[in-house]
Amino acid sequence: MSDEIGVAVLGLGNVGSEVVRIIEESAADLTARIGAPLVIRGIGVRRVDADRGVPVELLTDDIEALVSRDDVDIVVELMGPVEPARKAILAALEQGKSVVTANKALMAVSAGKLAEAAEKAHVDLYFEAAVAGAIPVIRPLTQSLAGDTVLRVAGIVNGTTNYILSEMDSTGADYASALADASALGYAEADPTADVEGYDAAAKAAILASIAFHTRVTADDVYREGITKVSAADFASARALGCTIKLLAICERLTTGKGKQQVSARVYPALVPLEHPLASVNGAFNAVVVEAEAAGRLMFYGQGAGGAPTASAVLGDLVMAARNRVQGGRGPRESKYAKLPVAPIGVIPTRYYVNMNVADRPGVLSAVSAEFSKREVSIAEVRQEGMVDDEGQRCGARIVVVTHQAKDAALSETVAALADLDVVQSINSVLRMEGTSE
Ligand code: NAP
Repeated sequence: MSDEIGVAVLGLGNVGSEVVRIIEESAADLTARIGAPLVIRGIGVRRVDADRGVPVELLTDDIEALVSRDDVDIVVELMGPVEPARKAILAALEQGKSVVTANKALMAVSAGKLAEAAEKAHVDLYFEAAVAGAIPVIRPLTQSLAGDTVLRVAGIVNGTTNYILSEMDSTGADYASALADASALGYAEADPTADVEGYDAAAKAAILASIAFHTRVTADDVYREGITKVSAADFASARALGCTIKLLAICERLTTGKGKQQVSARVYPALVPLEHPLASVNGAFNAVVVEAEAAGRLMFYGQGAGGAPTASAVLGDLVMAARNRVQGGRGPRESKYAKLPVAPIGVIPTRYYVNMNVADRPGVLSAVSAEFSKREVSIAEVRQEGMVDDEGQRCGARIVVVTHQAKDAALSETVAALADLDVVQSINSVLRMEGTSE
């Protein structure tokens, strides 16, 4: 049995308190698995109080001093925002301590800098919990699939938005009431912007794309749209088309006409056919589908958030880092050799669903379809229904157009041109369609 492995836990919130609990409750098993006991040297918090369920002498608000202690070998960062986490992690790595973090916001903007510091100090930097909570997806991508070529990673990686969209789908609720419901049940934060505007999913897409394609991709490289404009009418139309609507994070390897490789990372709400495996992922659950050249399609499903599920992923990383300390050696380093360019959204081939109100008179459909064909966007399906006003008088028609695949730029131009047509009264919504190849 080796000497103790000293651990500093930064943060004692939802995740940190579960991590501390498991370290204490599973001490004997963890010691046997690692080959040395894990000993918590201190816990970094803002509020040092006696009522926090841990011995008060372990608590400190001096993060810098805790990280710098000679008897700390591994720092587990579970505080949250980019700062002060970045400063604490950099200090830890520079002092030769391995780091485990669940901080997706930080990893999506600073993974490169942190990986360089870990490389320089020959220590581990693990972040399994930063994407999809309990679901193992970072390690399968970096290790199990290290010999394969990943083609696509697509997933539902934000539980809050998946809960809201699932509610809208199953109850017919509009966005505002589904969000209120999610807040009441604790699935949405007081300020839900990071979730509903897609920032959280975009951070995870950046992390997944970087790993899958051996290329540094940051949150700024990810095209992003949130779910705030998705309406109950969109769900009704989606149902009629045999689809539901999901907020997807999509990371893709693309080959241009000239045979050059590019990567795409994007987040948006999309129509997904009901038979697609992601369509049945409901509530706050997450799922990630990975497509690799030799392995084919793999699906990972489970709890994408929550204190205990996320703590499971953190503990997995902590045990790995501790074993490496005991046995010598390191886990996989950052792999960025491919350096593939990130493709702009305009060149991405997608299918579109466009829902618009038009004048109810002859020639409207041909005027609308002409705008699609002018830009070589082929229409797959058109649905039209008449509308009546409060007095029961006909007042126009609603048209839903579904296209075949075309470049995103051509589809955007088409929508802009449609909005300018005098027969088009309003463009109600425009969504992409994923999970079909036509
Ligand atoms: P949380 O409940 O808000 O807890 C944050 C903890 O960090 C608190 O204990 C807080 O101290 C401490 N803290 C924050 N700023 C600090 C500072 N400047 N100095 C010292 N301590 C500070 O957060 P969480 O939900 O556990 O999330 C932690 C991390 O895990 C985040 O990066 C999050 O994105 C990630 N994550 C969370 C989940 C999840 O389901 N919650 C899932 C995946 C990843 P006080 O208690 O004294 O305020």
